[in-house]
Amino acid sequence: MAREPGPAQPGDLVIDAHCHAGSGDGLSGPWDTAARLGGYLRRAAAAGISRTTLFAAFHSDYAVANEEVGRIVARSPGRFFGFAFVHAERDRGRIRPMVERTVRDFGFCGIKLHRHDAAITREVCQTARELSLPVLYDVMGEVWVADLLAGEYPDVNFILPHLGSFADDWRAQVAFTDQLVRHPNIYTDTSGVRRFDVLLDAVRRAGPGKVLFGSDGPWLHPGLELAKVRLLGLEPRDEQLILAGNFLRLARPAATRPANGPAAPRGAAAAPGR
Ligand SMILES: [Zn+2]
Repeated sequence: MAREPGPAQPGDLVIDAHCHAGSGDGLSGPWDTAARLGGYLRRAAAAGISRTTLFAAFHSDYAVANEEVGRIVARSPGRFFGFAFVHAERDRGRIRPMVERTVRDFGFCGIKLHRHDAAITREVCQTARELSLPVLYDVMGEVWVADLLAGEYPDVNFILPHLGSFADDWRAQVAFTDQLVRHPNIYTDTSGVRRFDVLLDAVRRAGPGKVLFGSDGPWLHPGLELAKVRLLGLEPRDEQLILAGNFLRLARPAATRPANGPAAPRGAAAAPGR
């Protein structure tokens, strides 16, 4: 049954699963120059967002960028989670040690990469499998890769943000919704999705267990992005999956792993309820 959208209830945990932080070293746009959190944090606090997953902006050296994000996470470990940003081609041959270091030193609990840098590789997927980490991969509309990822790495959880297209490519988002329904280890986030009915359709058909709330802050307003999730009018239990439960299920094995401890072997998260 739908309910009226309203402000967060006290005690509701809201995790923004997609936010950038730190400096880039480019000069083409906000995405590779700087992701400053000051305004984001004020907006997130006002919206009732209590925790945020951070990863770098575009950078020419992700080892450096991850360090900076790691320092931010380390300063407020109760406030932030961190994901390791990798470049599938430039970092080829050293993905695992790079990621492992961020898990060990900063408690990072996922891997992020972007098709704009390079297409995902087996090395990235293998690292995620070995370290039991979810992979957040912006496919830039190349949604067909979800079939390959799900087929080759059924025990790795993949989050393809923006329903597969930040550019609001309707064809890609509609095609991706079918993949979200079919593959238990393929997830998405709500960040930047504009066509509301496409998002609503994805939640209805794939189930609230397959969608994570994300804002793509600090460039998008986290309160505005959160309002979109509230406007889905879901049952509180289903809404809570999107706002926090799904992320915790995907990232918890890594986030709660003891420092320097071995990665616990695990399969993909159990297929969520509809
Ligand atoms: Zn982003």
